Amino acid sequence: SSAAKPPPTPSPLRFSKFFQSNMRILVTGGAGFIGSHLVDKLMENEKNVIVADNYFTGSKDNLKKWIGHPRFELIRHDVTEPLLVEVDQIYHLACPASPIFYKYNPVKTIKTNVIGTLNMLGLAKRVGARILLTSTSEVYGDPLIHPQEESYWGNVNPIGVRSCYDEGKRVAETLMFDYHRQHGIEIRIARIFNTYGPRMNIDDGRVVSNFIAQALRVDGLIKLMEGENTGPINIGNPGEFTMIELAENVKELINPKVEIKMVENTPDDPRQRKPDISKARELLKWEPKIKLKDGLPLMEEDFRLRLGVPRNN
Ligand code: NAD
Ligand code: UDP
Repeated sequence: SSAAKPPPTPSPLRFSKFFQSNMRILVTGGAGFIGSHLVDKLMENEKNVIVADNYFTGSKDNLKKWIGHPRFELIRHDVTEPLLVEVDQIYHLACPASPIFYKYNPVKTIKTNVIGTLNMLGLAKRVGARILLTSTSEVYGDPLIHPQEESYWGNVNPIGVRSCYDEGKRVAETLMFDYHRQHGIEIRIARIFNTYGPRMNIDDGRVVSNFIAQALRVDGLIKLMEGENTGPINIGNPGEFTMIELAENVKELINPKVEIKMVENTPDDPRQRKPDISKARELLKWEPKIKLKDGLPLMEEDFRLRLGVPRNN
């Protein structure tokens, strides 16, 4: 055959959002701990990913393997400022998550939660994108019921030192539902319980209870985004343990000779928490898979590598 066939003309439908591989996804806070694992997963799923992050607690280093990739873009951007991009989905994670960092500049934290979420909802409204908010178990405050179901309204101090974060997230959830009811925006809300794993800030300061390895937590977020339920849905590990049990576990793992010291708790710290994850199990077919006892050694490994501390034995 002499005449070579012309290459097939790509169908314009290729660019439709129904063709998942061409989906454009914005991840705010994508340079952070959970965000960067989520970006890995979305990139592996062939999505086009735009990260907007101001690097307050996150770092470019978490995303270094994607820099220069044709499907990847990284923007230094603070979500308290308006953002103009054209996307099909928004994973809105931008917000410091550890008390050490969110208490550092509480006014900034509440601005990030309120103005940042408002801006991302304005963006979602303009471009018709679906938006997922990573809310938190902190919306339950110091809970008066145990375990916590999504229908529980919480017990939160509105004027405490943690309020910038927990009340901030509560307003963010309110904004999500108001944009949904008033403007018909497609929303998804995950309430994440404490999560730990590789790339967590070394000085994070939070207790570990849920391992992110193999991007398990992130699977829950993607399932929520892709499914039909707005949420809120608890994403967490119902395996409960006391702080002393945790300390004993860490001691056993790192150095059985270290001494456990009791210190005063920080103000308004919830005394007991455990997610009811019936909704996640039923609606998302999601549940955590890594027990504390198996997750801790993986975390130890990651911290040793990053800190350059070799194992003694
Ligand atoms: P992280 O601090 O590692 O990540 C947050 C990211 O947001 C960072 O990259 C930071 O630089 C960025 N950021 C902060 N303020 C910003 C702003 N104004 N503009 C743009 N970027 C900004 O925290 P994480 O643990 O990955 O948490 C991610 C999300 O999940 C947060 O919304 C957090 O509230 C939520 N969450 C996390 C946990 C957890 O256990 N890690 C629990 C509940 C909820
Ligand atoms: N916004 C944004 N990107 C957009 C569209 C809106 O950051 O693509 C911001 C906008 O600056 C505003 C917020 O989102 O502060 C809320 O937008 P909305 O259109 O809902 O409200 P309005 O602008 O009418 O107050």
